[in-house]
Amino acid sequence: MVTDCTYCGSDIYEHEPVFIAEFESGARVQDKQFCNYACLAAYIEEEGLTEGSLCKIDL
Ligand SMILES: [Zn+2]
Repeated sequence: MVTDCTYCGSDIYEHEPVFIAEFESGARVQDKQFCNYACLAAYIEEEGLTEGSLCKIDL
């Protein structure tokens, strides 16, 4: 099993790991892992993963 941070490549178990799972073909698939929320947030920011994809907007 991969233990390298998707964002920075460090060993996630030396930090406080966070895991991301995606839903594919009816199953939950672990896709990415990060040292902590900071690496996750940086990754999301760099990849632009949140742009225009908010499922609910409260005005
Ligand atoms: Zn990291």
